[in-house]
Amino acid sequence: MIKHALSVTRDGDFAQWYQTVVAEADMAEESGVRGCMVIRPWGYGIWERIQRLLDDRIKATGHENCYFPLFIPLSYFEKEAEHVDGFAKEMAVVTHHRLVADGKGGLVPDPEAKLEEPLVVRPTSETVIGTAFARWVQSWRDLPVLINQWANVVRWEMRTRMFLRTAEFLWQEGHTAHASADEAREEMQRMLEVYRSFAEDDLALPVIAGEKPENERFPGAVATYSIEAMMQDGKALQAGTSHFLGTNFAHAQGIRFQNAEGELEFANTTSWGVSTRMIGGIIMVHGDDDGLRVPPKIAPWQIVIVPMLRDQPEDEAIVDYCRGLQGELAKLSALGEPVRALLDLKQAKAANKRWGWVKKGAPIVIEVGGRDVAGGNVSVLRRDRLYREDGKLDSRVIARDDFVGAAAALLEEIQSGLHAEARARLEANITRVDDWAGVEAMFVESAAKPGWADVAWSRPTGAALDQVVERLKALKLTIRNAPVDQGATDGACIFTGTPAVERVLIGRAY
Ligand code: AMP
Repeated sequence: MIKHALSVTRDGDFAQWYQTVVAEADMAEESGVRGCMVIRPWGYGIWERIQRLLDDRIKATGHENCYFPLFIPLSYFEKEAEHVDGFAKEMAVVTHHRLVADGKGGLVPDPEAKLEEPLVVRPTSETVIGTAFARWVQSWRDLPVLINQWANVVRWEMRTRMFLRTAEFLWQEGHTAHASADEAREEMQRMLEVYRSFAEDDLALPVIAGEKPENERFPGAVATYSIEAMMQDGKALQAGTSHFLGTNFAHAQGIRFQNAEGELEFANTTSWGVSTRMIGGIIMVHGDDDGLRVPPKIAPWQIVIVPMLRDQPEDEAIVDYCRGLQGELAKLSALGEPVRALLDLKQAKAANKRWGWVKKGAPIVIEVGGRDVAGGNVSVLRRDRLYREDGKLDSRVIARDDFVGAAAALLEEIQSGLHAEARARLEANITRVDDWAGVEAMFVESAAKPGWADVAWSRPTGAALDQVVERLKALKLTIRNAPVDQGATDGACIFTGTPAVERVLIGRAY
């Protein structure tokens, strides 16, 4: 039996395992405000990698970054009825701009300093950015407007979980305005594809891109698309969304332009976002019973060198040797960027450092002791294959030059290996189901990791859709999306028995 680094296993208690990884991998911790987390350097380092790589993709598709205020006048929201309805129950509001002594040693909001209009702490920025678009756009020549912002937002969520659902989270939000609905829809699809390829290629996170059902649409959207990832417990995580907003926000905010014929038209807009939730997905897709495994592309440090120091005179030679190695590794490039190699000189026992990096999920840990220096070797630990068949730690002694020569390819192999493993799991856990009884059988209480059901449906609307939603809710299920890539649909809708028009994925979700 392998003695793993964590006290909880995925099979033992997945929810507890997740919290343990968040803590033991130094990702985040509680802050004292419910639902708000402190993101620690390793977690934030991963977020910075996500920002860097996604930002490149957002710019490569023609978007520019800018910044809008944290506070949005309440009246901006009130202009779009569905939007304000959707967000009202989770909006934090600023009403005063000064505190005064309450006479009992405390402070209270000063009644004399009440704001004329309440300010909402942004939950999303369609309304304020739309207001700017109304100023920026006059003629068809001003379109399209393609912008993005990296920011924090606040949604007062009642049930929170580190990274997956927090009251304050970090994200990027793209907002665009176009001359036609077709062009805006194209933009929505383009950004969905940016998210899909970013998740697969950079995060090694296999996802299914598709359209959300009407009841799961973003408040105020005409269509919402998502990428859905499958966690190791079979549950779904909505990892990003891209919305076609039609002219709803253009009407509310007055985004109008003169077309080539000189007539006044409303613009069509889109918005799209991914958040720090992605990090929760990375943990629950790539983590194992020894902690996190970070795909090399987003690992703050890809190779960590741990010198085995013993307070002996030969320590100096070991550190010199490690510095030399770090220098050689830093000259390499892997996965299209310079290799990120850290020499860990912290004052701690080498074994603790090793297990610390294993739990954090650094892709490769190199240990160097006196014997390695004497032999011109290094001891290599791959995070994606920690143990040998016999359950012993698979630490391999390799000639230093050979390791340096192979390091870039090794990082690439780890990246694609993690992806292949997760993709195989996703595919193995989507089951085609032909009728409602099949869905009930699949998601009975006792099913440990049911995954997702792939079913045909008739895309009901209104009351008929409400009924479907209720039936699913009784089994704690939701429709995740209707995959963009789907074959011909035949057969009957599993809910209504009428001819089906598309296939949808059903599952439990975070
Ligand atoms: P939305 O603006 O609602 O489409 O949200 C955009 C993306 O942000 C979603 O697809 C989620 O991945 C993420 N997200 C939404 N709510 C939260 C939350 N409370 N905590 C973390 N991420 C969130």
